[in-house]
Amino acid sequence: MSGSIHSKAALFLAAWFVWSSAARGGIFEFGERPLGTEANRNAAEYLATEAERMGYEVTRLPFKCARWVKGPSFLDREGARVEVFPGPFSPAYDKWCDAVLVTSTQQLKRTKCEGKIVFLRGPIAKEPLMPLDYPFYFPERHKEIYALLDERKPAAIVAVTGKHPACGLEPYPLFDDASFKIPTGYLDAAAMDRLLEGRGKMRLMLDSKSFPETGEQVVARKKAAGASQGKIVVFAHMDTAYGTQGALDNSAGVAVLLAAMARLKNYAGPYDLEFIPFNGEDSPMVKGETTYLARYGRELSDIQLAINIFAPGAKGSQTAVSAYNLDEDRQTWLDGEIAKHPQVKRGPEWVESDHSIFVFQGVPCLAVTSSNLRDTVMAVTHTPRDTIDLVDRNLLLETVDFIVDAVNEF
Ligand SMILES: [Zn+2]
Repeated sequence: MSGSIHSKAALFLAAWFVWSSAARGGIFEFGERPLGTEANRNAAEYLATEAERMGYEVTRLPFKCARWVKGPSFLDREGARVEVFPGPFSPAYDKWCDAVLVTSTQQLKRTKCEGKIVFLRGPIAKEPLMPLDYPFYFPERHKEIYALLDERKPAAIVAVTGKHPACGLEPYPLFDDASFKIPTGYLDAAAMDRLLEGRGKMRLMLDSKSFPETGEQVVARKKAAGASQGKIVVFAHMDTAYGTQGALDNSAGVAVLLAAMARLKNYAGPYDLEFIPFNGEDSPMVKGETTYLARYGRELSDIQLAINIFAPGAKGSQTAVSAYNLDEDRQTWLDGEIAKHPQVKRGPEWVESDHSIFVFQGVPCLAVTSSNLRDTVMAVTHTPRDTIDLVDRNLLLETVDFIVDAVNEF
């Protein structure tokens, strides 16, 4: 540990202020910052400027992406009207159609869907589908559903969904995909039941549009003091989903990243350091991640340790550290690092978020999150409830200490 508790806190508070100010109507207004929005570009600009100010060598990698805008949408039928949520990035739609209900892939295979609204309910809609050709993980089951929809050619799809442990939204969008060309919407079972009380054809109106935009992936680097023994990378995703300020997911992580960067700016150890505010974790396009890999992917084998900071510092939790691809000596080392910080403990593995990119490539990784990620944090992510009052500032400070110590003592 270096620096007095005072200067440490001051640096941290600077980062904290920026990432929390939007939630309080402050001047930076990052708040909701999905890919392609002005707030997202401003946030990337801010992070690049801060990293430069700290003396890091900063690379800004531009990319193309889409911004999504939606409005009130509905399903109409003689005797019934219900609100429908347009699927993220869905094309607009407004037509009267016949409708069919499908609950399984088997049933989808034999149902005539062309020109109709297809309702997906039950087993076929039991979990959010990964975006088509998602580069890091794409299950066979999802591939089959996309292939069948491509073949059956429905005019539009409406998913009947509820609660899912991986998503705070209830109901949740079944499709979240900027390249999927069929209009999609979603609603909950109660709305569906009301609709079934009506008669005849339905009118589906989806007010939803996408615009081509740009974004940036910022990467901040610092060379090892002498001959390099490889690279340590630390990252936290800076974008949000739509409809949330993203305090825990993941302003808290970016605040920890910035504070760790500030305290490691004079690092003189044997590793090259790289800090990445990934720009795309909450976007189906994962543009920041793929842009980073296109530029630096061949250096993956140089990485000796990768640390993902995701949703740390939830009130009422401790900091949970899970480890991947660590050998026995490094596991012992990690136990020693954890033991120094009373609010930090081991947590269960979860191969999601940005560390999965590195875990799948065999890179030694740590994922740093809140110990109540599964039972509490996930329920608020991507919702308007993910606000700054859920974050424990002192726990973030201890998380910064842990990461700085881990990097210095690796
Ligand atoms: Zn998220």
